[in-house]
Amino acid sequence: MVQVKAINAFSDNYIWCITDEQSQQAWVVDPGQAEPVLTHLKNAGLTLAGILITHHHYDHTDGVATLCKAFSGIDVYGPNDSPFKGITKPLKESDIVTVFDTQFRIITTPGHTLDHICYIHPALAFTGDTLFSGGCGRLFEGSAEQMQHSFDKLKQLPDTCKIYCTHEYTQANLAFALAVEPTNSDLIEHAQWVDAKRKNDEITLPSTIALEQKINPFMRSDISGISQNIPTEYQYKAKNILQNNEPWQNFAGLRAWKDHF
Ligand SMILES: [Zn+2]
Repeated sequence: MVQVKAINAFSDNYIWCITDEQSQQAWVVDPGQAEPVLTHLKNAGLTLAGILITHHHYDHTDGVATLCKAFSGIDVYGPNDSPFKGITKPLKESDIVTVFDTQFRIITTPGHTLDHICYIHPALAFTGDTLFSGGCGRLFEGSAEQMQHSFDKLKQLPDTCKIYCTHEYTQANLAFALAVEPTNSDLIEHAQWVDAKRKNDEITLPSTIALEQKINPFMRSDISGISQNIPTEYQYKAKNILQNNEPWQNFAGLRAWKDHF
């Protein structure tokens, strides 16, 4: 099984670096910057073998051109319908990418952007800006209904599946989650752990599907206690989109509330 390490980028991005024990090679996920990747590879004595892209935003792609110059001939995997033009191996739903000994299945997860994909293995998943620990990406291009559908796919992953998302947003996400579910004891306990980690500037990732099912309001948007806690103005916003009371409307209400939190 591959090993995954975090490379810090920008103020709160992680570029995930995938290696295996036998190999002196690495893959990176969403290199928004090249310099921290080049430094990490040099210090670890690794060469770059490939790049995985989840979506087109600059903080996930701006390092690609420099890395491809430094390691000529490497493949750049990413969504087949992406505005980002640096992808050499376009991917669609159910495609497989083999990284060392590990096969990742592609699921399309529109919502944050329309081109967003996640790289899924039963033991680990790269979820980009779709599923964060304790939260979800903003809806820049897609609808709440699309994002809810994307989350439904992620909910089917095994409980033990490790979640590698792109941003260290956990602490702020849990502050919102506690407003949604102030009496959720799993959430209260995990928020204390996260606060202690962040006090020492330590990483709070990866998460797991089991943990997200317990603490992430967007994974729990179908729970009745959550829908009741959404303030009226955001519930109205959600219900105003469609006449019927669809399950994704809780998701839309939560997202609208979070946008103003
Ligand atoms: Zn993004």
